[in-house]
Amino acid sequence: MIPAAFEYAAPKTIAEALALLRGKDGEGKILAGGQSLIPMMRFRLASPSLLIDIMRIPELRVFKEEAGYLRIGAAVTHAQVESSATIREGYPLLFSAVGIIADPVVRNRGTICGSLVHADPAGDWGAALLAARAEAVVVGPEGERRIPLDEFLADAFTTVLKPDELLSEVRVPTPGPRSGGNYQKIERKVGDFATAGVGVQIMLNAQGTVEQAGIGLCAAGPISRRAAAAERMLTGKMLDDATIAAAEAAAQADPTADTRGPADYKKDMFRVLTARALRAVRAAVEASGGRT
Ligand SMILES: Cc1cc2nc3c(=O)[nH]c(=O)nc-3n(C[C@H](O)[C@H](O)[C@H](O)COP(=O)(O)OP(=O)(O)OC[C@H]3O[C@@H](n4cnc5c(N)ncnc54)[C@H](O)[C@@H]3O)c2cc1C
Repeated sequence: MIPAAFEYAAPKTIAEALALLRGKDGEGKILAGGQSLIPMMRFRLASPSLLIDIMRIPELRVFKEEAGYLRIGAAVTHAQVESSATIREGYPLLFSAVGIIADPVVRNRGTICGSLVHADPAGDWGAALLAARAEAVVVGPEGERRIPLDEFLADAFTTVLKPDELLSEVRVPTPGPRSGGNYQKIERKVGDFATAGVGVQIMLNAQGTVEQAGIGLCAAGPISRRAAAAERMLTGKMLDDATIAAAEAAAQADPTADTRGPADYKKDMFRVLTARALRAVRAAVEASGGRT
């Protein structure tokens, strides 16, 4: 189907983009990679009167470590994250997630922030970045607000963004020493959305017990969310087989049956993927002698 008619603007600053959003009184929409928005427009599930293309705003191209965080601006694509040495060497959770998102064509155009705003319950970045305890940086007429990702994602395809705000960047805490991360996903075929997806980020203390545990689930219900009971189960324990078995049992999800499989099968997959991710983290931390 052909999308309804729309105007197009390519502002050069965040301030201009916000003014355009305000001017349209909720009728304008931010365009990032267009990998979700354009298909929705073609199906007439969205019919914005104005598309505000943010990919030419230099401030939104920020992609660097600063003050204990990795800053990923709204114009940073999946492909940039995938090819970054900083990600490959320092953010194993993000690195293991990005290569199994969609296909190279989508990864070349789609953005991390666009994925988060789209808030697809099966989107991989929600699960990975919840595990990493990332926060969203939102800008609007009243200035900037920082929102933990748990609070940013409100419901299926819904965030707490107001119509006159945009997500300027996502900030991911830089993993400390004795940390490891991993992302596991089951998909029907390469490039598909997750049947089940689990992100894990673990930090051990000097004694080898779990200091902080993050576990994020996607395709686990109407919204990507943390497996809080499993995180609690891990905290303060050695990452041994007994702890991993207890954590996988606690990684409860509430998936629905669909063409990707029955609910019971999916529930079991969350258990399996949680254990796989935790074992991968343990192996990486052991192999690095605690320097990971
Ligand atoms: C064939 C295909 C397969 C895919 N497979 C996967 C997969 O396996 N896993 C996965 O996680 N994803 C998958 N995706 C989705 C993909 O990751 C998209 O890139 C992503 O959902 C949207 O990012 P985008 O930059 O293209 O956003 P857009 O499509 O441009 O925008 C999406 C929505 O977010 C809003 N928006 C975008 N950026 C901002 C911002 N900074 N501030 C405020 N609002 C904003 C837009 O207005 C729109 O409502 C797939 C997509 C396709 C087409």
